[in-house]
Amino acid sequence: MLKSIAVMTSGGDSPGMNAAVRAVTRTALHQGVKVWGIRGGYHGMLDEDIFEMQSKDVSDIIQRGGTFLGTARCKRFQTPEGRMLGYKNLVDRGIQGLVVVGGDGSLRGASTLSQETGLPIVGLPGTIDNDVWGMEYTIGCDTAANTILDAMNKLRDTASAHRRVIVLEVMGRSSGWLAMVAGISGGAEYILVPEEPFDLEQICENMKADYERGKRYILMVVAEGAGKASEIGPIIAEKTGIDTRVSKLGHIQRGGSPSVIDRVNASRLGEHAALAIISGLSDIVFGFNRGHVVSINLHDAVTNKKQLDPSLMRLAKVLA
Ligand code: ADP
Repeated sequence: MLKSIAVMTSGGDSPGMNAAVRAVTRTALHQGVKVWGIRGGYHGMLDEDIFEMQSKDVSDIIQRGGTFLGTARCKRFQTPEGRMLGYKNLVDRGIQGLVVVGGDGSLRGASTLSQETGLPIVGLPGTIDNDVWGMEYTIGCDTAANTILDAMNKLRDTASAHRRVIVLEVMGRSSGWLAMVAGISGGAEYILVPEEPFDLEQICENMKADYERGKRYILMVVAEGAGKASEIGPIIAEKTGIDTRVSKLGHIQRGGSPSVIDRVNASRLGEHAALAIISGLSDIVFGFNRGHVVSINLHDAVTNKKQLDPSLMRLAKVLA
């Protein structure tokens, strides 16, 4: 049994990270284990921004987006010297294990740190992109998808009023999951994702036919990994002659109070992570599969590429 652990958030923030840190902290304290918070991701680990946490330190945060611990991208951690310094800073405080909440980059760093130093590490997938291999859900993806859906509902009103094509660019890095689920739930006519090649010329022909059949407006969702709305929009306008506008939600997608799903899932994953690290487990990341919490090998999670569910892509086409 470990007696002292640390928890941190890293990489892009996502709604629900706070719920995860809260659950890790309170579960560990409940087990009589000391918990340290690391501020500002791997930066804080290297700069010794590390503090011991009590239950009250995680009060009043479950409803907040972002991460109260702060997060960062840290170049120094990508060097063996940087990681060694981080490890030393943890050992100096008697910290015996670490929970890292972050995206695939952060988990990759965690995996390397564990391999190089032997420090027990358990990961939690914290990213709105839902792109971590081996699991169907990552903390924050539900809130982000709902934020996009809310924007789509509003864009639909104005698209309809003006008989426009609206091209909405959404986040997701190299994954099309956010675009796909937001597009399906928002009733988009076209969804462009990096996982599937598309023919813009053909799409423009289809749009003209859509309008000739009496369609009043068209919503297109573009995953950032598939292209830029600012480039696709003008091509559609030129080739179809239809009034076209583009919209890019940007960082709004990362923020906001976490949804019920993100709060509950993050809390459940946080509890599992704390119990696992305390019992001496390492090199695993917890996620959900078919609604159940599962542990995935950390190395497998960061070396494999998650695929977009083909049944979602098929459904989007049938319903469009
Ligand atoms: P995310 O975790 O959201 O995917 P990044 O990819 O920016 O975000 O990763 C966050 C941080 O994790 C980086 O700034 C770096 O400190 C660390 N990191 C990412 N990839 C590696 C790697 N291959 N080796 C070591 N550290 C890494």
